[in-house]
Amino acid sequence: MSDERLTFRSKRIVQADSPAIDASGNSLWTGQYYNEGVDNDYFDKLKEECGVFGVYGHSEASALSFYGLHALQHRGEESAGICTSDGKNFYYHRDMGLVKEVFDNERIKYLQGPAAIGHVRYSTSGASKLQNAQPLVFKYKGGDLAIATNGNIVNAPEIRAELEELGSIFQTTSDTEVVIHLIARSKQKNINDAVKEALQRIVGGFAFLILVNDRLFVAQDAHGLRPLAIGRLDGAYVFASETCAFETIGATYERDLRPGELLIIDEKGMTEDRFAPLQQRSLCAMEFIYFSRPDSDIDEINLHSARKRMGRQLAMEAFVDADIVTGVPDSSISAAIGFAEQTGIPYELGMIKNRYTGRTFIQPSQELRERGVKMKLSAVRKVVEGKRVVMIDDSIVRGTTSLRIVNMLREAGAKEVHVRISSPPYKNPCFYGIDTPDRKDLIAHERTVEEIRIAINADSLHFLTKEGLLEAIGRTPDEFNRGMCTACFDNNYPTALSEEMEAVGCGTC
Ligand code: SF4
Repeated sequence: MSDERLTFRSKRIVQADSPAIDASGNSLWTGQYYNEGVDNDYFDKLKEECGVFGVYGHSEASALSFYGLHALQHRGEESAGICTSDGKNFYYHRDMGLVKEVFDNERIKYLQGPAAIGHVRYSTSGASKLQNAQPLVFKYKGGDLAIATNGNIVNAPEIRAELEELGSIFQTTSDTEVVIHLIARSKQKNINDAVKEALQRIVGGFAFLILVNDRLFVAQDAHGLRPLAIGRLDGAYVFASETCAFETIGATYERDLRPGELLIIDEKGMTEDRFAPLQQRSLCAMEFIYFSRPDSDIDEINLHSARKRMGRQLAMEAFVDADIVTGVPDSSISAAIGFAEQTGIPYELGMIKNRYTGRTFIQPSQELRERGVKMKLSAVRKVVEGKRVVMIDDSIVRGTTSLRIVNMLREAGAKEVHVRISSPPYKNPCFYGIDTPDRKDLIAHERTVEEIRIAINADSLHFLTKEGLLEAIGRTPDEFNRGMCTACFDNNYPTALSEEMEAVGCGTC
């Protein structure tokens, strides 16, 4: 390598922990920048909440749940669980780990009965431990009761304090447990009314599957923040956080749940009820931007197509002349294809993600670090070398990842790195089941776009506008905010928040 090249690197590549980089950028690169092999948060992404899957009326309910949860694995990799009912008894297994690690043939056979609910979890509320793995299963005066949730209950701490005052003893630190206690303590004469009454007490963004011995309850929060879809298979009802789970098991999509809806499924069929008045949805925009799989549809809008439209819109809003477009794998590839289609700049595979990175305890030596051991993401040197690169990413959270990736592309020889983000600046924490840092740790909070550009060492930086995002998603033009929640961009939360949440800004994460 020539001295000239070394000089170039030392000037252009800056360390991830540098507080700020000035235009002349004299920071020396020590190699301590990315893929160090022990940092599971390398991608500095918002964490998906959880995934739920349910079946009622199928002889292979547990096996279907296994495959459904496997399709939803990206929504939670810490624990998995399935609870089934044969009409009289519950069968139950949950553990820490991936779906394929938690279940084997024997366990699936043990889970008997035609009704099942399943869950994959990333902890957004409550510590990450087996005690909090779902479904949560309890005995109550009417029999057995299991619950699987995706989302977060905003007023859970107040309800929990109130119930503890009345003598309730909680077994977990999960916010979901308050629903069980509300149902168990209800004075209502039947379980349907008790579930409805419990749902009326809670505020937040959630999708619930609640199984009792002879029926299944399915509910979505009053604002429709968290997705939940209904499907059919061989006469049975199936429910999933994302429609990709239906494709996996061969089910047919019927429709998405409606805000405030409560479905009761028993041997007579499905009864449609509601626990809150129908209102417009405030569907989580981040599901479209990043969380959901590209082969899933929400409200019949395909996620890959929506992300491509975001990329096209971004190109219209912030064109830059360049040699190639590349997307940060995997979630930004669709938007990168859209940007490339709109501009005519070729899309190239400028980066490769290693899919087998899991948890590792092998700490690289300083020497290996200095050689830039790459376990999680690599630039394709022959593709980016000497090129002006447009790098598309779906969001910037703390900014550390963006800096590492820009540096990685520069180190691989990119002449220029122009960053385009297919969402508006992420400025505010989420209280509806997404694990986000405190406001003060979000790079876009109280920083201008130019300050962020300097911090991530990019030649240029643009974010998609909120209007552009909503147009690209393409939902309900007549509804306020096009029926979307965009609170993390505009601070306009669809529900009431506690004063503490507003001030601290970390939810109950
Ligand atoms: S605040 Fe953001 S991440 Fe949370 S539900 Fe709303 S759009 Fe989704």
